[in-house]
Amino acid sequence: MLIDSHTHFFPRRFIDEIGRAGSAHGMEVTAGPRGEPVLIMRGAAHPDLLPFYDIDLHLRRMASAGIDMHVVWQSSRPNVFWADPQLGMALCQIINDEYADLVARHPQRFRAIASVPLQDIAASVKEAERAITGKRLSGVMANTNIRDRYLDDPYFYPFYEALEALDAPLFLHPANAYGADKLRDFHLSFLLGLPAETTLSVARLIFSGTLDRFPKLRLFVPHAGGLLPFLAGRLDHGFAVRPECRKIERRPHEYLDRMLLDSIAYSSDILGFAIQKAGAGRVALGSDYPYDMADDDPVGTLTQVGLPSDTFDKIGAANLQAFLTPTPR
Ligand SMILES: [Zn+2]
Repeated sequence: MLIDSHTHFFPRRFIDEIGRAGSAHGMEVTAGPRGEPVLIMRGAAHPDLLPFYDIDLHLRRMASAGIDMHVVWQSSRPNVFWADPQLGMALCQIINDEYADLVARHPQRFRAIASVPLQDIAASVKEAERAITGKRLSGVMANTNIRDRYLDDPYFYPFYEALEALDAPLFLHPANAYGADKLRDFHLSFLLGLPAETTLSVARLIFSGTLDRFPKLRLFVPHAGGLLPFLAGRLDHGFAVRPECRKIERRPHEYLDRMLLDSIAYSSDILGFAIQKAGAGRVALGSDYPYDMADDDPVGTLTQVGLPSDTFDKIGAANLQAFLTPTPR
């Protein structure tokens, strides 16, 4: 059994609703040459949407990559955080209803992570409860910041209380990389900015004491943890010598035991290092399908690490299965 923890699926009904209601927010859906939807986000075109909404392409990718199951969730964009709270909630309900239908139709092939409108925290709590308890989704996603508000802000506390009560992990996706104005050339906002943004967001959750305050909060940290495995020693040194870093109960690297990193490192030796730092129980196979930045052969990358077969199996499926909200059968 092999599960890809990190894939993106945008239900067609979600895209259509953006087209119907998004124009007041600078979001447009137009028709391409073959009548296909084209998403324009405040003037910037989204990549070809077809692999994001065509479930047969997901199934075909599973077959070609030797993977049994995709965990689907929203990406940073378009997501719903640009919308007013009412539209944000309506879009999340569409996403979560469609995800629940997908999982019901293909229970062996898909699990899904819910979306909530974090621009309205009370609505987010309500929708998380509906999606996890009522719709049996397997976790909840958030961007690494919501409209430039980082996730250690006490604004988010009621949401974390709800996640703890629901036993639902929080899946993070990097958005609006900090320093983006310096990263415009060479696709650096993606190559460097997004993993650095993920690291910033998680470092704030650690050093602020948010993970101490919510001891059952669990984080999915994409792209092999961003820079976390490589900076763990530096964060620990800050904890040792800097008073402003001492407000937490444990050394920063120890909080990796609350996280699950995906395997998207594109390089088996770097992935091997991330596994060594986080622990063999804290990494899960992932690809970022269908973006051009996806690892096209995640199983090959993991195989090349040369792990013992029981460790390979954990990273291939078991770690993720233990991390997701249990699905009652
Ligand atoms: Zn992604």
